[in-house]
Amino acid sequence: MKTIGILGGMSWVSSLHYYKWLNEMAQARLGPLNTPPILINSVDWAKIKTFQKNGEWEKAGEYLADEAKKLEQIGAEIMLIGTNTMHKVADQVQGAINIPLLHIADATAARIQNAGLNSIALLGTSFTMEHDFYKNRLEAQNIEVITPNQQDRDLVNTIIFDELCQNNPTEKSKAEYIRITEEMFNRGAQGLIMGCTEITTLIGQDDFEKPVFDTTLIHVEEAFETVLQED
Ligand code: GLU
Repeated sequence: MKTIGILGGMSWVSSLHYYKWLNEMAQARLGPLNTPPILINSVDWAKIKTFQKNGEWEKAGEYLADEAKKLEQIGAEIMLIGTNTMHKVADQVQGAINIPLLHIADATAARIQNAGLNSIALLGTSFTMEHDFYKNRLEAQNIEVITPNQQDRDLVNTIIFDELCQNNPTEKSKAEYIRITEEMFNRGAQGLIMGCTEITTLIGQDDFEKPVFDTTLIHVEEAFETVLQED
């Protein structure tokens, strides 16, 4: 089994799910005492937050590229960036390493296509919902992306950083996420991308009739299938 490298700590709540689910998948597939080789580099998120706030994406990319190189040097064979938002610098990270980076939006786009959908609602940070790096990746696969209105995007973003990244999801926020998603469904979205790795702590498939794509789970599942493959 290949060794999985994870750039984590963005946030730690997200990394917990990567670690837990990878291990649960190994247990279910390979037997109760099997654990997959995982290297997690839990980075300094405050530093990342400052880069994000100042729009210093190049610097953020350099920082994450350096941290990814460390993982490669100690044996990582595939690389995950454990957050949707920081895939904004995925090309910079991939450019610095010689192992494949498994892109969270590509994995998600493939699932949406397999489900036969071509219009999807997106919830995530403001960066993910508003910048092109993420939406372009989906649109390149002929998937139309629908996002909330400005006021609701701000609310979704605030809830991510003030609650979910601090491991404090609330019922009130859950109701807001459901309301905002239903509005996007009314505008034609055929399903929902939970495009932030902490949203899995707030809502899920049980809250909706239309299909829900949990990027954290999809990323983990794709990584697990990849490391199981023989060279
Ligand atoms: N984990 C979040 C995401 O998936 C946001 C944290 C970050 O700013 O990277 O986008």
